[in-house]
Amino acid sequence: LVLLNATHRLDRAVLRRKDDAFVKPPLVADLKKARSRGEIFLVYQPQVNLADEEVVGVEALVRWSHPIRGLVSPNEFIPLAEAHGLINSLGSWVLEEACRQAASWDEDVLKGVAISVNVSPLQLAAPGFADMVQQIEHKTGLATERLILEITESSMVRDNERGFRLLDELRRRGVHIAIDDFGTGYSSLSYLRDLPSDYLKIDRSFVRDVPGKPEAEAIARAVVAVGKSLGYQIVAEGIETRQQADFLQSIWCDKGQGYLYAHPMRAGELADWARKRTRRVAETSPQHMEV
Ligand code: C2E
Ligand code: MG
Ligand code: MG
Ligand code: MG
Repeated sequence: LVLLNATHRLDRAVLRRKDDAFVKPPLVADLKKARSRGEIFLVYQPQVNLADEEVVGVEALVRWSHPIRGLVSPNEFIPLAEAHGLINSLGSWVLEEACRQAASWDEDVLKGVAISVNVSPLQLAAPGFADMVQQIEHKTGLATERLILEITESSMVRDNERGFRLLDELRRRGVHIAIDDFGTGYSSLSYLRDLPSDYLKIDRSFVRDVPGKPEAEAIARAVVAVGKSLGYQIVAEGIETRQQADFLQSIWCDKGQGYLYAHPMRAGELADWARKRTRRVAETSPQHMEV
């Protein structure tokens, strides 16, 4: 019996050792303290008009620099924040920080451009979300029409009625809405027709395979054609090569974002990037040439 018991205990120990939560201390405890410890920050990725590469917007992306694990991906800690009731406070902080930054941009190429902020479906579901957005705009001085809230397609499908009403309300107040990761969810054409929204962002998984893969090309073409005829502006995410950009422009996709143009950068780097770009624009633009 003693022997049996011992093996049993050993088994359990082995099992627990295999369990991630045993090897690494639970991340959520650290996440709770991360904000107050200054480990959470934002990076910003420019968006351009595909036709002339003019900067038209910037997307804010949240980062967590964990003291031991290093950078933890938002794909990992956003779901964790959602599961443990931390997403509303994290999300409001992100929104306020992004709006404050955007309101302060005064480099020529950034002045007045749109700021896109990713929003979790749980934030949308929280009572008073639209009022919270408005308060942050007042507090930071950001002009309402500069704000774009990015919402994933799949999150909207879950609670159509309520979600639609909220997006409607936000848009009546002047906020713009983008449907993120478009093409990866299950939305129908009637949903696309009725969705109170301004932008469709074609998911990176389709952009990755154009040009060259006929299926990806067909999907990109279809999203642009249907989206534009329903009044959306189309943004392609994850553009890494000139060929991708050229293809997307040739099918009349409006905007693009990706490593080809710029990686996400911290606020200070973004300002440097913008200053360099302002100089470049000034040097090459015909209006500024001496006659
Ligand atoms: P997303 O909103 O679709 O953001 C685009 C992701 O693609 C970002 O990853 C960005 O860094 C990455 N990316 C941009 N250009 C390229 C490229 O050319 N090639 C490749 N391979 N990747 C590119 P990131 O920052 O890791 O964010 C992942 C996701 O986490 C986001 O996807 C978004 O869904 C979520 N997320 C990020 N920040 C926030 C936030 O503040 N709140 C919420 N709720 N979700 C966020
Ligand atoms: Mg996004
Ligand atoms: Mg996206
Ligand atoms: Mg994506």
